[in-house]
Amino acid sequence: MRYAPGCGRGVDRIAGHAFLLSGRTPIDGVWTIKRDIWKRLNGAGGRHATHTTSRFDVLVLGDLENSPVLEPENSLGQKAIYVFDRRQNGSHIHVVDGNGLSRLLRGELAPCLDLVRNEQGGKVFVRSTGF
Ligand SMILES: [Zn+2]
Repeated sequence: MRYAPGCGRGVDRIAGHAFLLSGRTPIDGVWTIKRDIWKRLNGAGGRHATHTTSRFDVLVLGDLENSPVLEPENSLGQKAIYVFDRRQNGSHIHVVDGNGLSRLLRGELAPCLDLVRNEQGGKVFVRSTGF
């Protein structure tokens, strides 16, 4: 399993971390609305951020699940671009997908996804992690 450069072991817990959600997110394969995810995160000792202007530690990319393994790189939105830029500036923000969030809710380690930028279009992609 590969991790994003600059990240240690990935994301090891919910407690004490603030999460920013991007789009609908499947939890254990079930599409789950933000409000319900927030409840579960709060119940596990985490916090939720509503905008990139709030401090957050983990970006959850739910929309990734809309175009799964057939397409290893998916163009992402403004939140991912924000995180990419922050990482470029030396401050690491974790990125997980629905699978990673499901792992965290089970108390398991979640891999932190690597982001890359397409120089031409300026778009940010998740580098295929092969898990
Ligand atoms: Zn990370």
